[in-house]
Amino acid sequence: MFATESFRPTWVEIDLSSLRKNAQTLLSRTGGKPLIAVVKADAYGHGAVRVAKALEKEGVNFFAVATLDEAIELRENGVNSDILILGPVEERGMDSLFTYRLVATVISSSYAKSLSEKAKKQGQSLRVHVKIDTGMGRLGIRYDEAPERLEEIMSLEGLFLEGIFSHFPSADVDRDFSEEQVRRLKKIRENMRLAGKKISLCHIANSEGIWNIPSSFGEEFTHVRPGISLYGVASSERGLLPVMSLRTKIVQIKPLRKKETVSYLRQYVVQKEREYIAVLPLGYADGVSTCGSGKYEVVIKGRRYPQVGRVCMDYMMVSLDDNPDHIEEGTEVEVFGSFLSLQEFAHKSSRIPYEVMCGVSKRVPRWYKGEE
Ligand SMILES: *Cc1c(COP(=O)(O)O)cnc(C)c1O
Repeated sequence: MFATESFRPTWVEIDLSSLRKNAQTLLSRTGGKPLIAVVKADAYGHGAVRVAKALEKEGVNFFAVATLDEAIELRENGVNSDILILGPVEERGMDSLFTYRLVATVISSSYAKSLSEKAKKQGQSLRVHVKIDTGMGRLGIRYDEAPERLEEIMSLEGLFLEGIFSHFPSADVDRDFSEEQVRRLKKIRENMRLAGKKISLCHIANSEGIWNIPSSFGEEFTHVRPGISLYGVASSERGLLPVMSLRTKIVQIKPLRKKETVSYLRQYVVQKEREYIAVLPLGYADGVSTCGSGKYEVVIKGRRYPQVGRVCMDYMMVSLDDNPDHIEEGTEVEVFGSFLSLQEFAHKSSRIPYEVMCGVSKRVPRWYKGEE
């Protein structure tokens, strides 16, 4: 979990009311399809426990994480909803699946067998969802081998095969391929049903699936699995609200003279007779990549100012031109959030929004607002 207090004036603001509205927007988009809210990587840097609890109040009762550790963190902090771990768990962690009442993802028959052995030893039953690879080329059982494998897995003692799921590699740009994936997954469940083997749950839609592939939340699918849309990243016409903003306060303002330079490698050279430089107390150790050095912009009192010179580990500089106007040391600065979108900020450093969210480091405290 993140610190909530810090002696440095750099912080991330998380708007939980926007998060909850985004969940409602997704529900109305899919006609009320229940969410398996993806809160892996500490809810994409937003703080998984706070996010899960806010969503629970909105009626969400199923979460997905990447690792066993992430699932345990949720349980130990009072999240009681269902939790699906999207990846495999090492042998030495398997007992915790039972202790913490988790839902496991089966990626192969051999993995299912080890889970079954554990379940027998524990004298308990384990809920599992089988991951089918319909075209991601990553984890899971190949779709064309699924019928045999599912039969095998169903016959294993101690496992309750509750669901099957799959994942889109490019639901945003490749509609035909995504629809083929939907057909592949649907067919597997349908054939099992015809063979008298009912699989209760079935899901494939990530955020882009929800927006671009309506068949991915059709009646054959019981859930959708959004991540990034909950956190408000999308084009504005989708009606999603930004949840995360990165803010700081100016620690020093000073005038530099013509030909003087700013920061490491002296890449920024002052051209005017006088230029005011504001120093911001955040840098690449906080998640502002040096790949965007000299390309970022920040917002101060509603106006954009260019970031200049190399981003340092703990500082970066902004040019206030030849007139600092009514800007002072201590004035608040938005690095991204409401006036300047996280997507735009990500673009400046050639990163994807996911990377920026997950990359805001632990030393930046998260401040929460919009709680009920
Ligand atoms: C991360 C992830 C998601 C959520 O993806 P978004 O693009 O953030 O909506 C869904 N399913 C799986 C398997 C994932 O790994």
